[in-house]
Amino acid sequence: MVSFTFYAIITPVEATISTLRFQLYIIVAIMVLFSVALAIIIARRIAKPIEEISAGAKALADGNYATHFDGHGFLEIKELSDTLNTAATELSKVENLRRELMANVSHDLRTPLALIYSYAEMMHDFPAEVTPQQTQTIMDEAKRLSGLVNDVLDVSRLETGRMELNLSAYNLTESLRGTAMRTAELVKKDGYDIRFESGGDAFVRADEIKITQAFYNLLVNAVHYSTADKTIIVRQSVKNGKVKVAVIDSGDGIAPEDMPYIWERYYKVDKQHRRAVAGTGLGLSIVKKIIELHHGACGVESQPGKGSTFWFELPIV
Ligand code: ADP
Repeated sequence: MVSFTFYAIITPVEATISTLRFQLYIIVAIMVLFSVALAIIIARRIAKPIEEISAGAKALADGNYATHFDGHGFLEIKELSDTLNTAATELSKVENLRRELMANVSHDLRTPLALIYSYAEMMHDFPAEVTPQQTQTIMDEAKRLSGLVNDVLDVSRLETGRMELNLSAYNLTESLRGTAMRTAELVKKDGYDIRFESGGDAFVRADEIKITQAFYNLLVNAVHYSTADKTIIVRQSVKNGKVKVAVIDSGDGIAPEDMPYIWERYYKVDKQHRRAVAGTGLGLSIVKKIIELHHGACGVESQPGKGSTFWFELPIV
């Protein structure tokens, strides 16, 4: 009987364990280094921009509206900084509006108030010499004041979206003709000739009082800014399911460089000269807001020296 004996060479277990342990240490060290590096990169890409945005937001809260948020890194951070940039722009607009409002309103209130006071004082001191012109001036200035206050209230309501529309279907043509004719009666004595032209009745679903107000603002502007030729034509036309109302004057017209701004609040082309005649610089911004609320459109075509055509358009029912 033959028997075999196998001998295997066994490397000492101790040596293998220590090699493995050494490799493990190296792997752990590499992983720790890698995690630290990753943490630094993530911190740079997330935490740093967030810190910058937070510092910017603090500056914004302190009233520094020129703050620019420059979000870099992840898409969400970019979106956040874009949103904050928009918020900063909107806040700066509100701030500018507030400043403009303070400056314009205080100036426009002071002038008529001073006039009313001085005329009233004159009438008080010399009651025997009161003339109709003096009482007329007081009445005119008081009217201008109440117009200004109403305009400012309208603008603030329109700006904050608190203007509610009282919609009803009505005959726009009849309504506008009535307003045009009543205004024509008022200004006839000063030589103005307001004509109303329409191809037929147009019905709209709108807030009659607001639309009348918008139309009246355009009509009053046409009267204010008419020069030698005092004819004003109101032309109503219907096309493609829309009614267009154009108020045409032959006045001074508007310079092309002023055209983009006239619909803005408080914008007046001739800032001093016509103050006594013209209004508050709010009329056209009110028109624009009212027409926008009705999902309509408005615009102007004008040539300096030849006159202006202000128009608005509403969907018919
Ligand atoms: P205002 O109260 O000054 O008339 P508006 O907002 O109604 O304010 O008009 C803004 C500016 O647009 C006016 O100051 C004027 O210069 C110009 N404007 C408006 N309507 C006319 C017009 N029919 N002809 C010429 N300029 C006009």
